[in-house]
Amino acid sequence: GAHHPADAELLGDDALRPMPRDATAHKGSQGSVRVVGGAAGMEGAARLAARAALAAGAGRVYLDALSNAPGPADPAWPELMRAGAEPAVAQPGVVTLAGCGGGAAIATHLPGLLAQAARLVLDADALNAVAGSAALTSALQARTQPTVLTPHPLEAARLLGCTVPEIQADRLRAAQNLAERYGCSVVLKGSGSVIASPGHRLGVCPRGSAALASAGTGDVLAGWLAGLWAPEPEADLHALCGRAVSQHGAAGEALPLRASTLIERLSATLGAA
Ligand code: AMP
Ligand code: MG
Repeated sequence: GAHHPADAELLGDDALRPMPRDATAHKGSQGSVRVVGGAAGMEGAARLAARAALAAGAGRVYLDALSNAPGPADPAWPELMRAGAEPAVAQPGVVTLAGCGGGAAIATHLPGLLAQAARLVLDADALNAVAGSAALTSALQARTQPTVLTPHPLEAARLLGCTVPEIQADRLRAAQNLAERYGCSVVLKGSGSVIASPGHRLGVCPRGSAALASAGTGDVLAGWLAGLWAPEPEADLHALCGRAVSQHGAAGEALPLRASTLIERLSATLGAA
């Protein structure tokens, strides 16, 4: 590509700064997030993502659980709604986050989401489904609407058809290759998360720690990113990914840490806005 992977920027404290919220903001102006995930036994992943999206500032958050379990979307967070017919993922105000705890069931939703979603974040099993399907790969590559992929190294290896050691040996190049192959913004997670977007200078996030090495922290990142994006459809997506990753990393530098407490720490950082 036009940008050699060696040309990378270390993200600084600027990337931590929260966006101030306009005094006239209302839930309708803050955008919505629709989370599609949470197959049976993995409902928690989708709930963590949905909670993080709400905490990040989305006006409304809907949870499309694949488990089809009855009851509220998240009994402990009554703010979260079940997705009914609304909102349509094609609306510009809606960010769709697909894949958290999605299991194999997410694959059946992806053709529609890839074709229609105005703004899309793909994580976890959505990435695995794309990696395993030529049709979904083509549909992702055909998208013209803005899209973010948030793979960990194993998901990245599946997407690039290589091994995890190969990804880890040159994380900058792997992130750049993913961004170019799929025409998306990419967050390659792990120690030193890399942010790549076609035509942009690579970003490397020095924040975060091994305290984040536990279940659910990636779901929180995906939800946090979607929630930051919801009120800012015109934002520079590459910079927004850098902000989401930096804030998530900074909140993930102290033990004890559980994905749920990470959401609380992230929420507290918005007090600076
Ligand atoms: P996932 O593997 O999808 O659950 O995502 C894990 C999250 O924790 C990602 O945001 C990773 O970047 C982060 N993470 C995990 N381990 C580390 C580490 N050793 N150093 C920094 N970040 C980490
Ligand atoms: Mg994950």
